[in-house]
Amino acid sequence: MNDSVHVHTLCLHGLSAELIEMELQYTGGLMQRVIMSGLPGSAIKEARERVRGCLVALDLPVPRKSVLINFAPADLPKDGNSFDLPLALGLLALQGELDARAFESTIVAGELALDGRVRSVRGSLALALAARRRGIARLVLPALGAAVAARIEGVDVIGVTSLGHAIDVLAGRAAPAPLADLEDDTQHDVGDLADVAGLDTPRRAAEVAAAGPHHLMLVGPPGSGKTMLAQRLATLLPPLEEERALEASALHGLAIGGEDARWISRPPVRAPHHTISRAGLVGGGRPLMPGELSLAHGGVLILDEMPEFPRGHLESLRQPLEDGVIRLARAGRAATFPVKPLVVGTMNPCPCGFHGHPTRGCTCTPFQRNAYRQRISGPLLDRFDLFVEAPSPSAQRLLSPGARETSNTVAARVARARVQRRATAPYPRDAGAHAALEATITHFALSGRAATRLVAVARTIAALDEREEACAEDIEEATALRRAGWVPAEDAAS
Ligand SMILES: [Zn+2]
Repeated sequence: MNDSVHVHTLCLHGLSAELIEMELQYTGGLMQRVIMSGLPGSAIKEARERVRGCLVALDLPVPRKSVLINFAPADLPKDGNSFDLPLALGLLALQGELDARAFESTIVAGELALDGRVRSVRGSLALALAARRRGIARLVLPALGAAVAARIEGVDVIGVTSLGHAIDVLAGRAAPAPLADLEDDTQHDVGDLADVAGLDTPRRAAEVAAAGPHHLMLVGPPGSGKTMLAQRLATLLPPLEEERALEASALHGLAIGGEDARWISRPPVRAPHHTISRAGLVGGGRPLMPGELSLAHGGVLILDEMPEFPRGHLESLRQPLEDGVIRLARAGRAATFPVKPLVVGTMNPCPCGFHGHPTRGCTCTPFQRNAYRQRISGPLLDRFDLFVEAPSPSAQRLLSPGARETSNTVAARVARARVQRRATAPYPRDAGAHAALEATITHFALSGRAATRLVAVARTIAALDEREEACAEDIEEATALRRAGWVPAEDAAS
């Protein structure tokens, strides 16, 4: 028997995790109670019964005296189901069933089923990152979903399948479970740019959006292909860089759960429906989960029929898109999730959808048309550097024989442009470019911010053309790719 046993585990809060030390010791009482101190949450308190039931079911010894379990640091609220496995192992070590030295420089996390199987935990990658940050060499995790955590160098991830297996592995009697081959996230079947007929300007806008990156708004009637194009935007983006892939995979593992934890190397595509809850969109809940906005990190967030989303939802996107992170608070503690998606919004030109249609008449009043567009606030629309119209489908357009480039061809240009863009001058020095810029600023009474964004788009266009500086034509094209969202100064005044 050991006098006291120390087991370390981690408590996730958002993507970060606190190191928790559990100290188990016998108290004087003979009541066979397990007493907990140090702010254990309800799930941890329930773990007492679950763990006891599990020990009994497996014919493992149950302490015959009262046990005090103290969680440190004491002032930090702790909760979650991943305390089952460390608790069970700690109780066994306290009774001398396991050498307590097995817990040295080791973190244990896992949920137990009543039959002793170890269930996967959410956020295994985040746990491995937290272990590495603290210089802890070994992480004992449910084998299911541990493969993604094993990708973190410097931490030895030990996969276990059951409580019995965990005991044998820690005692050196059994080998860890082989971890599943880590499947790379395959490109979601979102089609190819070559599927999109016509739509020359929106297609060009998608290429510029991918190269920037720049958020893109597509306006067009139903059937114009705007949603189809939005879905294909991800095929133009390069694979995620290592750091971004790590963040995306950690976010995914937290939201999706252990068993489906994958390594995300391709830009994710998320397309939430407008009926989604606010927490579902931006993150929140209990435990704290990333929302669609974060799950699209490094990829594409499609907001189809954007004016149909509740205005409050849309407004809550603004600050995170500006900052690249979202701050969420739960139980007085703040957590942040990274947020760097390319946003593609789509909207109809009016509530009925047929404003500007060559053959079908719009039944909306000017007031209705105006109110529809104003469901998206000006400051949010300002985040969209590109704003183009997808014309209504017409037989002529669908039959247009124009050469359609494939996603691969455009993606190669985008990848080159992303490198080239770093070398392009932030502001054009060319007199012609200046004159074009002045003309656009005056014509649309642009704010300083809008003018800056216009130059940023012109710079991307120059980079796509492998030039180091934006010229007048680039400014003009950037204007053409944004003007559908601006009102000329003279119209605004009248
Ligand atoms: Zn209409």
